Amino acid sequence: MGSIYIDPTPGQIEKLTTTAIADALKNLIENKHVFGSVNIDLIKVNSLISEKVKQYDKQEREEQKEQFESHSKRVLSGEWLLQHDFLEELTIPHEKALGRGGPFAFKKTVIQLPTVKLSCKCDNAIWPHNSGYKAIKGELLHYTKFTDLKQGGVVQIFSVPYQCQSCKRHPVIFFIRKEKGKEHYRLRIVGRSEFESVYCPKQLPQEEQKFYQEAIVAFHGGKTLAGIFFLRTFVEQYIRRILNKYGREPGEVLAKDYAKLLPDDFPSTRVTSIATIYEELSVCIHSAKAKDEQFEKSRNDIETHFKYLDLFPLSENTATS
Ligand SMILES: [Zn+2]
Repeated sequence: MGSIYIDPTPGQIEKLTTTAIADALKNLIENKHVFGSVNIDLIKVNSLISEKVKQYDKQEREEQKEQFESHSKRVLSGEWLLQHDFLEELTIPHEKALGRGGPFAFKKTVIQLPTVKLSCKCDNAIWPHNSGYKAIKGELLHYTKFTDLKQGGVVQIFSVPYQCQSCKRHPVIFFIRKEKGKEHYRLRIVGRSEFESVYCPKQLPQEEQKFYQEAIVAFHGGKTLAGIFFLRTFVEQYIRRILNKYGREPGEVLAKDYAKLLPDDFPSTRVTSIATIYEELSVCIHSAKAKDEQFEKSRNDIETHFKYLDLFPLSENTATS
C-alpha cells in the first residue's frame, strides 16, 4: 500500500493567515490611534494560493481556489484567542481544535501577540513593549464576542495589555475590536486605558512641550481644530516667554519681534518663519476650518524651526532675559 498524500497547503494557509493577523495587530498598536483601524492584509496568503492552484487543471482551479480560501476565511471568521508573552505554558496546542464536537468543530485560533514599539512616559522615548505583564493571571486574554447587527458574523473585542520593557510600569490596556468589513476583516482600537504618551523631539523647548503633546493627542483623537489651537498656543507661549511679554500684544506682532532675535546666519529662506506658522494656524482658528494637511505642515514647520535653532541659537542675552 502506498502512503496517503496529505496536502500541507491548508496548514500553510492557516499559519500565514495567523501571521497576517499578528502583523496587523502590530501595525494597529504602533501606528494607529483611538478609533483608527487597519485591514488584515492577505497578500502573502493570496500569493501562496495562486501558486498552489497552478498545479491543477484549468477547469479545477476555480474550485480549488475557493477550497484553499475557505481555510483562510475559517481563521478570520472564527474565534481567536490571544496569547501574551507572560503566559507560562500554553495549554492549547497551536492551531489545534478546541471545544466539543470533533476536531474541526468550534475551532479557535491562537494568535501570539507581537512585541510592539510605543512611546512611554518613562523617558520621552520609544521603547519595546511586551504583551501581558508579570502579574497577569489567566492563560489567555479575555474577550467578549457578539454578532454584528449590520454585517452579520462574529465580532470580538479583546482587552490587550502592553507593558514597557524599560520601566515595567503598569501596562496600557488597549481595547481592540475585530470586525468584518465589506471586503476585508479589520482591526480597530476602540479604547485605551490612558491617553497615549507622545514622543516629543528633544529640540522643542521643555517649558512649552506640554502644548505640543496636547496638540498631537487631540489630532490623533480626530480633533484637528483643537490640535491646531494647541499648536498655536505652543508657538505663542514660546515667543512670549522669549520676549518676556505677557500683555495684550497680538501674536503677529510678537512673531515679528521674535524674528529680529534670530542670528544673522539663521537659514531664514529655507525655514518657514514663526510669523507664517502663527498666521497659518490663526487662519484655521478664525474660520473654524481645520485641515489635517495644515496640522501636519505646521507641526513639521515647528519641528524644523527648532532643529535649526539648535544649530543657530538665539544669543544668550535674548533668551528668557
Ligand atoms: Zn517606560
